[in-house]
Amino acid sequence: MLSEFDLIARYFTRPVRSGRIPLGVGDDCALLAPSAGMQLAISTDMLVSGRHFFADADPLQLGHKCLAVNLSDLAAMGAAPLAFTLALALPDADEAWLAPFAKGLLALADRHGCELIGGDTTKGPLTISITVLGEVPPGQALRRDGAQPGDDVWISGTLGDARLALAGYLREIALPADALEQAGTRMHAPTPRAELGVALRGIAHAAIDISDGLCGDLGHILERSRVGATLQVDALPRGPVLESQDLSLARRFCLSGGDDYELCFTVPAARRAEVLDAARSAGTPVRLVGRIDAEPGLRLLDAHGAPLGLPLASFDHFAQP
Ligand code: ADP
Ligand code: MG
Repeated sequence: MLSEFDLIARYFTRPVRSGRIPLGVGDDCALLAPSAGMQLAISTDMLVSGRHFFADADPLQLGHKCLAVNLSDLAAMGAAPLAFTLALALPDADEAWLAPFAKGLLALADRHGCELIGGDTTKGPLTISITVLGEVPPGQALRRDGAQPGDDVWISGTLGDARLALAGYLREIALPADALEQAGTRMHAPTPRAELGVALRGIAHAAIDISDGLCGDLGHILERSRVGATLQVDALPRGPVLESQDLSLARRFCLSGGDDYELCFTVPAARRAEVLDAARSAGTPVRLVGRIDAEPGLRLLDAHGAPLGLPLASFDHFAQP
């Protein structure tokens, strides 16, 4: 059996390649040298076995996902990834689990130039907590409190396929195996919209990443910005698998399904061309789905402009039975 220190040395220690990190894993602290004049953006996300992922989840995808959800927070802030720490509670030092977990984690880290600089390792029920650090120029972070009446509301990528996969796994609905696999990839291996977030600096008034469902997450922007919004529900970009489902289910999963990790952002209507340029440069599709209003609350309209009354619950860990 591997010791704690062998495990850290074998799976989580690599030569640091960024000049902004004078010291990585192995000492009492890591040392960071952020670029001159930049602000640090810092966020932590914890994934708990049986709560955020199935206990038998594929470790390669899990390694990817636990960093992806953190990179998604940086993206939603317009911050460029710099480094992260990894706190792991493991039931045992199982190398058949650790090797693919580290591979999935570090492959995504390398893709985004985000260095693993430290962490903590302990025995316990499988729990993975990552703290990510990024950089953003002062005054350019995409906060939740900047939306203004008249802004357009935009969404990146597509929504709802991760929730559809969950419904398939829980047998709430029957899905053919290939559809379940395609939707499952959205749930297990989300794509953090890191390049888009950075490209929206200086353009978007407000942004958030959609982890708990669009209505709830957009609701955070509305509340913090003291505004309301109107969404064109049938303009929402539905996931390709969800597209073939019943319309009312498709609408519901787009509006309140979790685990999408797309960006929802607001931009003055005069800057549509800049949004499309930013999306093109980031290689990420975006869709205009609504507008910010002075009147508080969230209004949902169908393709004919008629109001839709849909249940809007977003995911809340403490509201679950
Ligand atoms: P300390 O007891 O001083 O907190 P640890 O023994 O916990 O140190 O960790 C030794 C070194 O290994 C530290 O640099 C720590 O940041 C790093 N480390 C521990 N666990 C991990 C991990 N899961 N991933 C990356 N680095 C880790
Ligand atoms: Mg420690």
